[in-house]
Amino acid sequence: MTAEKRSFEAEVSRLLEIVAHSLYSEREVFLRELISNASDACDRLRYLALTQPELVAGDAAYRITLAADPAARTLTVADNGIGMNRDELIENLGTIARSGTSAFVRNLSGDQRKDVALIGQFGVGFYSAFMVADRVEVLSRKAGEAEAHLWVSDGKGDYTVEAAQKDSRGTIATLHLKTDATEFTEPARLREIVKRHSDHIALPIVLHEKDKDDTINAASALWLRPKSEITPEQYREFYHHAGHAFDEPWLTIHNKAEGTLEYTSLLFVPSAKPFDLFEPERKHRVKLYVKRVFVTDDCQPLLPAYLRFLKGIVDSEDLPLNVSREMLQSNPMLARMRTQITKRVLGELAKKAKDAPAEYAKFWDNFGAVLKEGLYEERDHRDELLALARFRSTAGDGLVALDEYVARMKPGQKAIYTISGDAPDRAARSPQLEGFRARGVEVLLLTDPVDEFWLPALGAYKDKPFKSATRGAAELDALATDGKDKVEPPKPDAATGSLIALMKLSLGDAVKDVRVSTHLTDSAVCLVADEGDLDMRLERLLRQHQRLDEAAKRILEINPKHPLIARLADLAGKDGAASALGDFAWVLLDQARILEGEQLPDPPAFARRLSDLLAKGLAA
Ligand code: ADP
Ligand code: MG
Repeated sequence: MTAEKRSFEAEVSRLLEIVAHSLYSEREVFLRELISNASDACDRLRYLALTQPELVAGDAAYRITLAADPAARTLTVADNGIGMNRDELIENLGTIARSGTSAFVRNLSGDQRKDVALIGQFGVGFYSAFMVADRVEVLSRKAGEAEAHLWVSDGKGDYTVEAAQKDSRGTIATLHLKTDATEFTEPARLREIVKRHSDHIALPIVLHEKDKDDTINAASALWLRPKSEITPEQYREFYHHAGHAFDEPWLTIHNKAEGTLEYTSLLFVPSAKPFDLFEPERKHRVKLYVKRVFVTDDCQPLLPAYLRFLKGIVDSEDLPLNVSREMLQSNPMLARMRTQITKRVLGELAKKAKDAPAEYAKFWDNFGAVLKEGLYEERDHRDELLALARFRSTAGDGLVALDEYVARMKPGQKAIYTISGDAPDRAARSPQLEGFRARGVEVLLLTDPVDEFWLPALGAYKDKPFKSATRGAAELDALATDGKDKVEPPKPDAATGSLIALMKLSLGDAVKDVRVSTHLTDSAVCLVADEGDLDMRLERLLRQHQRLDEAAKRILEINPKHPLIARLADLAGKDGAASALGDFAWVLLDQARILEGEQLPDPPAFARRLSDLLAKGLAA
């Protein structure tokens, strides 16, 4: 049978192009990637063999073998793991399987330098072989199958697959090295690379040299070694392997639990935000082992979804080795491990928040929005999560914790004030905040969609209710303006009173009320929600998600100190004012809507009125 020629999926071709221009100094990491895959392949077979021992009959000694041939300029990486059949070769090496990755690659900027840096953060796994090789052959035979297949590619758009001969199960990757990559045939260089990047691999990595085999790594599970004997570099390399990660771990949590439950966990918080963190199918990437045997990397009951940024492993001594996926769904032991591990992780985060606030701020920017999901999805760790939560606020550029906010509350202030928006600086410019600023009252700026869910679910923090600044904050009137006495709720003078009456008449059903604002200092108008109504921005979000059909009516507040409003109030007392003021009322309402970020119900009418008023202004 001749070789069948096939094209890479478009995204793979794109990746390969970037790989070809990749970070030259770092290219030795290709070996780590191939070894990592070989180790995964052995792990997967070891688990299957628990129930199908015939799969490994005759050879249960898992290992990875490196062999170089300087004359032929080749390097091979061989394993006796699970292997791949024809379809798997095509699927695994010709397409991008992981959800999110394809979209990520499609959205790369096209700017080579930036793309290489980004990819460097996420890695290219198997394809990194093309950094050093101009041809890669993968000969593989799946455990339990008789046929083998050969996959060959020069990494330039297509590859071939054909039936082939292989005596035993597993995979051999042969790299035909580029002329400038001959260093990777030198035994000393290979030893050095394995020591640096792959020492933690729990299987023997054997270097085949002049008919002599030599194990060149420590070949024991890293997580079982005493912490004091593990270097930060070893932790990092383990993180890269186990987490399929390419960044630095931001936090490493290595812990041995002894007691009613016995297990070891080695968990990492990444320093870079994964691009698929908010993909609906995104799951945590913590691998479950039982007594050193890899069981699954999809054990969702092990951790709550709001910790899905974690990577690493958990190795249980108690779970039965033949544990099935179905059993994992409802295993009480797993539920207890989950509680303990969650506690431990939140505790370590709290420590970091206290000891290294600047570093913690980076973590919060990456994963805060995910962590906040825990505030409403589960109640078990609410207090710990609330203590970890940080916010931008009107008090400054830094992050503030709820306790700090409460400690800074003004005398007489009863609520924790919040305002929502797409971005902190936009939220901070909301006209509704003017009165809060004048009184020196801090307002939390909420910019994550998740805020609209946990806030209403919680309602209060330490007896202090959360309150949206867009809801007519009656309480604000009781608070003194900075340096001045308590402000009296304003009584509109007669002229302002007539203005309000005329505006109500013109606007009719479009607003719930028109009234004088106690809050505004600079803006002429703003919209607020009535005390009993939904927060305006929450309402908008719900409407965007079709969870709400109709918008509640708003209150239009006017600022009598603003020159425009003062001038209109003068006019309102005069005869025939009603018709003249109609257009003003509508333009002011639309202006308030724009400030609020709402859609104008009738933009042409707005434009016409505004042009008319401007024209009149010029004529006068
Ligand atoms: P990742 O390891 O993150 O899944 P890779 O690009 O490194 O991504 O590998 C892609 C896939 O190819 C792996 O998930 C695996 O299914 C398959 N694969 C690669 N190398 C081997 C191997 N030596 N044995 C078996 N399968 C392999
Ligand atoms: Mg890999």
